[in-house]
Amino acid sequence: MMSVSTHTATPVAPKTGTPEAIPLVRPTVEPDSTLLSRMDDVLRSGMLTNGAWVKRFEEAAAAYLGVRNVVAVSNCTAGLMLVLRSVGRAREVVLPSFTFMATGHVAHWNAQNVLFADSDPHTWTIDPADCAGRTSTADAVVGMHTFGTPCDVNALERSAGARQVPVILDAAHGFGSRYPDGAMVGTKGLAEVFSLSPTKPLSAGEGGLVTTDDDNLAQELRIGRDYGNPGDYDARFAGLNARMPELSALVGLSALERFPHWLERRMSLVQRYRDNLADLPGLTFQQVPEGARSSYKDLGVQVDPDTFGLDRTALARLLSAEGISSRSYFDPPLHRQTAYRGDFAPPALPVTDRLAARMITLPLYSHMPEDDVDRVCDAVRRAHVDGSPHAV
Ligand SMILES: *Cc1c(COP(=O)(O)O)cnc(C)c1O
Repeated sequence: MMSVSTHTATPVAPKTGTPEAIPLVRPTVEPDSTLLSRMDDVLRSGMLTNGAWVKRFEEAAAAYLGVRNVVAVSNCTAGLMLVLRSVGRAREVVLPSFTFMATGHVAHWNAQNVLFADSDPHTWTIDPADCAGRTSTADAVVGMHTFGTPCDVNALERSAGARQVPVILDAAHGFGSRYPDGAMVGTKGLAEVFSLSPTKPLSAGEGGLVTTDDDNLAQELRIGRDYGNPGDYDARFAGLNARMPELSALVGLSALERFPHWLERRMSLVQRYRDNLADLPGLTFQQVPEGARSSYKDLGVQVDPDTFGLDRTALARLLSAEGISSRSYFDPPLHRQTAYRGDFAPPALPVTDRLAARMITLPLYSHMPEDDVDRVCDAVRRAHVDGSPHAV
């Protein structure tokens, strides 16, 4: 295996005595000679988008996931827009508020009303029971696999009762995740949509993969990613330019070949975090359902200020002083973002609000050095021991 470039390749040398910065995330992309020579072939061929390498990438992803159809697109947002468009009669869509903004935007771009559902306090994914209380009028449900932990798709499908509304999965975080029954994420619902942007566990630079067992939908998506043009220049509907470039497909294919190795390593880094921090009070990790596997797109930790001794914002500040990046995904949650606030009175989403207020996202990427995990954990421990509002 080629040597992996890490964050240590910083152009600016750190000041002596200053610890090197630990980034929140880094894409694991290994330059390899096969990839470079294939890129050379593509550039010479003149076939730069949606060609033979995109098809090969789709086939390899379908084999890895165990799904009938994979349609590669330019990004997950465009893939979700096309899937939601296909649910023609949907005027109202239920989705979680505790998610990245794109989950909601795709409904907006289809002129669908957004109804927010609350999240489960343990798995942090959309709460099917809360969803059931809101779906008397909705005609589609969008679930999201929060930080890679699969949402309960079976319960979401039951949540609409006898009405049979389609369930679509924003699987942006979930490449490599498994459902509790052992099936790969990518195999359930009407369709699942992965993101291959640089912060996701599998990256193609930019890109998305839509998976579906529905051959008609797959065909519609293939037309839809090409403006709605099946090839005769008589657009069947107003599609998008959502094609995947050949160079992205090559990067994605190369990353997919090494993906199982990096996923194992990522999971062992998460275990290291959990073991290191297990004895600290006031920190709660995400609950992954029995039998399921999370890709751990992000390592979120909930900080209870009363028992930990300081809140997540103060913790983030102390980490930052030691050169350690963190985020607070997803704060603000969608129902409190400017783009959504004007639409309606904010719904009561108590679990979402609590998760958003307490979450800190710690550095994690597949090739992160183990020493850096230990450094982050030591800094968290020091914050707990020394940290108090007046010390910040
Ligand atoms: C990253 C992300 C998206 C958008 O993916 P793109 O490929 O950047 O369009 C959608 N949903 C969630 C939950 C995400 O984290």
